Amino acid sequence: RASEQLAAFDGRGALADGTTVPLLANVGTGDDARAAAAAGAQGVGLLRTEFCFLNRDAEPTVAEQTEAYTEILTAFEGRKVVVRTLDAGADKPLPFLTDATEPNPALGVRGYRTDWTTPGVLARQLEAVAAAERSSGAEVWVMAPMIATVPEAVRFRELATAAGLRVCGVMVETPAAAVTAEQILERVHFVSLGTNDLTQYTMAADRMLGSLAELNSPWQPAVLRMVECVTRGAASAAQRQGAPKNVGVCGEAAADPALAVVLVGLGVDTLSMSARSLAAVAAVLARVDTAQARRLAALALDATSAREAKDAVRAQLPVLD
Ligand code: PEP
Ligand code: MG
Repeated sequence: RASEQLAAFDGRGALADGTTVPLLANVGTGDDARAAAAAGAQGVGLLRTEFCFLNRDAEPTVAEQTEAYTEILTAFEGRKVVVRTLDAGADKPLPFLTDATEPNPALGVRGYRTDWTTPGVLARQLEAVAAAERSSGAEVWVMAPMIATVPEAVRFRELATAAGLRVCGVMVETPAAAVTAEQILERVHFVSLGTNDLTQYTMAADRMLGSLAELNSPWQPAVLRMVECVTRGAASAAQRQGAPKNVGVCGEAAADPALAVVLVGLGVDTLSMSARSLAAVAAVLARVDTAQARRLAALALDATSAREAKDAVRAQLPVLD
């Protein structure tokens, strides 16, 4: 059945009523990027740049970074690639950025915050990303991880713009960013929901702890309400500015076909996932229309637990095995 889906996947995501839902890939290396392009991904929704440099003690030079990013971007020439700036933290250490002695790595100096403790690294990375965009011909959208305030988003946009990057956004991974998404989106072009971290911070449940898996589920109605808050904020910001404000999801939630339907029903525009999940998600999206997706989203929002939300939605989606 999976191979039938794969054979039928034409690289596009769309609902039964023709509404398109671009399906993008999460990648970390050139091999990932080429595999994602071969699998039919329409672009990259999350390039985890820290994966290029996990074994490095010293900051890679601008030339080294440009080469690494160009290799990845070249696989998507003419297409969109969302490049995330380094997301280092004590849990995902890059020796040149992180303080491994932090008592609480998930709440420490990680992601965008490393620009405060190690200024210059972000600006040099953005310079390399801009150079890679020019040499590859891909359409780069750049975004910062672990944003919690409007001034952080503004500062990131200023740095990215100064480097010559045109489309700037931020990840929504903290409840703070979710509830201020409208104000953030009045100042940047797009957001991407990192549901792995957004779930961990909304539920106050460490994503590394298997014993908290039930709490740490993106099906938690509280997490879905965060998503709804972001899409509503985006719609208001878009209306006020007369410009589209793309809301993507690039966490694991996007790879769960039933949850993908719910996310689209909540107003999410694009979904990004590991390439192997693309066909299964496309197959389920193709069987529901916008009105059904909205109904399923409402069911999930009204549930009182992750399990209840998931069961309620799956019961209405007979196309799932
Ligand atoms: C996320 O938090 O959902 C995300 C996509 O980022 P990462 O998994 O790399 O933290
Ligand atoms: Mg994250």
